[in-house]
Parts: sequence; C-alpha cells; structure tokens
Amino acid sequence: MRLFFVLASALSVVFSFSCNSSESTDPDRVSAISAVSVTKPLVRFDVLWDNLEVDSGMIRKDQTLSHLLDNFGIGAGKVATLAANSREVYDVRKMRGGKRWWLASERDTSEVPVWLIYERNDLDYVVFSLKDTLGARLGSYAVDTTYRSVQGEITNSLYVDFDRLGVPTNLAVAMAKVYAWTIDFTHVQPGDEFEAYYFRKRVNGKEVGMPTILFCNFNHHGMDLPAYRFDQGDGPDYFDPQGGSLRKAFLKSPVEFSRISSSFNKKRFHPVLKKVKAHLGTDYAAKTGTPILSVGDGVVTKASYTNGNGKYVKIRHNNTYETQYLHMSKRLVSVGDRVKQGETIGLVGSTGLATGPHVCFRFWKDGKQVDHRKENFPPSTPVRDDEMDNFAKQVVKLESDAKDAFN
Ligand SMILES: [Zn+2]
Repeated sequence: MRLFFVLASALSVVFSFSCNSSESTDPDRVSAISAVSVTKPLVRFDVLWDNLEVDSGMIRKDQTLSHLLDNFGIGAGKVATLAANSREVYDVRKMRGGKRWWLASERDTSEVPVWLIYERNDLDYVVFSLKDTLGARLGSYAVDTTYRSVQGEITNSLYVDFDRLGVPTNLAVAMAKVYAWTIDFTHVQPGDEFEAYYFRKRVNGKEVGMPTILFCNFNHHGMDLPAYRFDQGDGPDYFDPQGGSLRKAFLKSPVEFSRISSSFNKKRFHPVLKKVKAHLGTDYAAKTGTPILSVGDGVVTKASYTNGNGKYVKIRHNNTYETQYLHMSKRLVSVGDRVKQGETIGLVGSTGLATGPHVCFRFWKDGKQVDHRKENFPPSTPVRDDEMDNFAKQVVKLESDAKDAFN
C-alpha cells in the first residue's frame, strides 16, 4: 500500500522566560559567539562566563551539595549557610544523582569558586553564588518550539507507521490519549487515515517532553473524528467541531427503567449455587424482552453462550474498558460488530444461572473486573456557551495553522 505523508518543520519560535536567563548550546550560536568573543562576552546561565575556570560533572549517587563542594575547598559551615540562604528558592536536599553541574572559579592564582550551576532537569537549573553573598536563583534554558504537521494512512499500527515515517513515536501515545474514549488503537485497520498538528519543545538542540497535539483527525472505518485542543479556563482539553468533549461518559446502566437486584460484591451468597461466590457484576432486574443497551461505543468481542452466563455479549470500548452483558433471552449483535452508545445489543432474559429475568452487567478496567458504580470517570464537559465563539475561532485557526505547518 502506498503511503502518503508530509512532514514539515514549520515555524520555530523562541519563548523568552520572565527570569530572562537564556542559554543555548545551539552549534551555530556557539560558533558565532566564539568567533566574536573578543567583542561579545560569553554569557551562560545569565553569568558572565568569560575568564572563568570551569569544572563540570554529574552528581554521583548519594552525593550531597556538601560532598561536592568539599572537593573545591568549600567547608561544611559555608555550605550550611549557602543551603540556608537558598532554601526559599531551592531546597538543596532535592539534588539528585545523575544531574549535571558546573563549577566556575575565577581564573587567577587563587581560583576562588564563584558559581555552582545545578541542572534540575532538561529545562531548569539553579545558580548558586559562592563568592560574596551566598545564595541561589533559578534559571531556565531558552526553549525552541517547533510546529509540525503529519498526515498518513495506517498500514500496520499508529506506532509502527509513525516510526516508519520518522515521526516521534510518542506522538502515537499522545494521539491515543486524545482518543482514549473514542478509538481502540489496538484495533485500527489498514486504510484508516491520520492527521496531526503538534508542537515539540527543544532545549539545547534536544527535544524534551511529549509532543503536544493541537489538532488531530483520525478517519476510522471511513468516519472522521477531528479533535481540537482548547482551554476554556480549566486546563486544555480536546473537543469535536461542535464543542463536545472527546471523553465520553458511559451510560449509568445498560437497561432503562430497571432496578438493581444485586450489587457488585466479592462475598455474595449465590442464590442458585447456595454458597458464597464473588459477584463481579451488577444485576439489573427487568422484564424479559427489555432492550439491553451498550453503555458506550465499541466493538463486539464475544457473542456466545455458557452454562453460567447464558447468552451473553462482551464489548471492548477502548484500550481501557470492556463490558459484558449476561443472561440474555436474545442476542442482537455478532462478534466484530461496531456498536454505538445506547444501541440495543440484546434482550433481557434468564438464560444460564439466573433465578429470574435480569442483566448481569460486568465491567473491566485494564483487564480487571471492577464495580463500575465506584469508578471515577473523567468529566466530559462540553465547551460552555459563553466560550463557543472563542472555540469556533480556535477551530478555524488550528485548521489553518495545521495546513501552514506542511509548507
Ligand atoms: Zn450478576
């Protein structure tokens, strides 16, 4: 199958941080600086780096600030003062093995240490001043943000296809998260199409963190599922073009107008078997022939019969959740069928081990049976009315930006 894709690095924006410290080991910039170093002094970590003698290394396992500075002739008393003076800015007990440090000393005979830089993570560092006023300040590297668009067709799996296209594979992870409630990515099929517009952060020439998806679309079984990132004040979330949340809540119960006749209970006395047996489901009593509804969109993975379950149906909703419906008088779906939330998949009955007509509803989370009535599902709040204008503008902007990012 021919694969089409475009991967384009679009615009690159440098964000300045309020702490106005900047640092870049971008090769072009470094060479530019070296070439003109006579007139333009080298600044690193917001520190005049010229004429300093620099040692550097990595914090060893269990090495403390005191251990490290002891090597440079800084005694415990001075380190204690430094730690105390720095506490409001940075707690030195948080320093960890494997992190990089630089120690800069005056380049003269005395070689007095003046700065210690501790790199907290890929983005942030701490600058300790060691000479006159002992203390610390926080700094952050300059961050490059690269915007890209990718488009393609599934030939294998999202992960494998991204890898083959040279797209970061954690973009597949990010996309699976956007669609966690709508698409089961273990069951995508060749011919499904994907599109994503995202940005990545780069620090010191290295990409850091997960890609952030701004807009994506997945054409699954011929149906488009566009998703737009939007923040209506409570953190960014993904919405469909109408402003609906991509996260879908499950129906509260698989049968309308029913009553719970037996709850999820790990030590239930079984009415037919006359012994204690875990009841890993919730029973909904209803008249024989009452429609049984799928509590969410999904794919039928089982439609079968056993002595205990009677006629039953199992549905996989996404990578996390599966549901099962037992004791049906009639099944109305087959394995492989795609079902929508609220679709009738069978009729209430009392086949298998049952004392009367009911649905035994079973719920799996990550392969483990749980009580669905005790699960905390993420909220699926749509875009609020007063934010719809902003959202509509965002949709237009993201679609346009996504196109531009191919050029
Ligand atoms: Zn049951």
